Amino acid sequence: MRLLDVIEKSLRNMDISREEALAVLGWPEGDILALVSDVFKVREAYFGRKVKLNFLANIQSGICPEDCSYCSQSRVSKAPVEKYKLISAADMMRMADQAVANKASRLCMVASMKGPSDRDIESVSDAVRAVKEKYPDLEICNSLGFLKDGQAEKLKQAGVMAYNHNLNTGEKYYGKICHTHTYKDREDTVNRAFFEGLSPCSGALFGMGESQDDILDVTFRLREMKVSSIPINFFIPIQGTILADKLLSPSPRPPSTLPDPTCLADSPTEGRGRKESDLTPVYALKILCLFRLVCPDRELRIAGGRELHLRTLQPLALYIANSIFIGDYLTTKGQDMCQDLEMIQDMGFEVLAGNSRKQADLDLSRRVSIKDKKSTAPTSLKSMGKKD
Ligand code: SF4
Repeated sequence: MRLLDVIEKSLRNMDISREEALAVLGWPEGDILALVSDVFKVREAYFGRKVKLNFLANIQSGICPEDCSYCSQSRVSKAPVEKYKLISAADMMRMADQAVANKASRLCMVASMKGPSDRDIESVSDAVRAVKEKYPDLEICNSLGFLKDGQAEKLKQAGVMAYNHNLNTGEKYYGKICHTHTYKDREDTVNRAFFEGLSPCSGALFGMGESQDDILDVTFRLREMKVSSIPINFFIPIQGTILADKLLSPSPRPPSTLPDPTCLADSPTEGRGRKESDLTPVYALKILCLFRLVCPDRELRIAGGRELHLRTLQPLALYIANSIFIGDYLTTKGQDMCQDLEMIQDMGFEVLAGNSRKQADLDLSRRVSIKDKKSTAPTSLKSMGKKD
């Protein structure tokens, strides 16, 4: 693979091949700076040096009836997480206040549930209306599990802009990490949200024992599904979850009816390619590079686990992704917000201010001009990316 050919395709938002994508994951570890530096041309062309901040609000915690083996809020998890039902509209407003105070463009309201009842939709909609009245520029994203027909439309009418439902991994691997719903159920919800007028947000979680093939599968599927934003999570092994216990346990688990994450370190890897239960910071960067190249114009968000898996290489990830979560994650602590803001400033990036729709319009016109531009040698591509 010639990396510059891939960069050129990506700048034109053309499909890159599976073979090229695989070569990105196989990029020599010792030469990671060269990869990041070239991928930055794509990031810069579509998003300049802006970084969008997103703030997570866990509006219902620890009581999901599903059995996702990686999740601390699942019914099969024994992790000591807080358990509470849908919080009040006043508490949701307090979270919005915190989001705005910390310069977030988007508030992501997440509830651990299979899917919302009509009453839940009403409660969330009432809270969203109040938040939008106070902060008209704040984008609201909901993540409330599987949607039934018409529910996304109601949320949209209340002022919700986006809906999150992660695919998490490749379709072939999904049955290994969850038994209570299917991959198709997840895709259907993403599509339903999109068809009912919400901006689809769907991402992935890596470090669960998936193969390179699985990583490629989910990357290309998210491109095909035309999701607008892609949160990339790296697995945080919380003791008490099925998956973490398996990863952290020195001895095999006893037979159980619970989901069996056969993915893990001691299981055979033949025919599935490299396994990445143990993510390295460099491999995490390569995954981000892959997503940027395959989905160049989508908001790419570094999400849960960035502190743990990118470690000291976190600042380099800003050269690839254009969006981060600030503050705490749903059930784990995040890096101090001041440190995040310092990191952004120190690296010469800027926080995206206010409603990113205005920015999205700018990005759109930039994309058009990039597509229209005649092919140029890669050395001149930098000039195509306008710094804001
Ligand atoms: S559906 Fe969501 S909240 Fe429920 S167990 Fe799975 S990941 Fe956790």
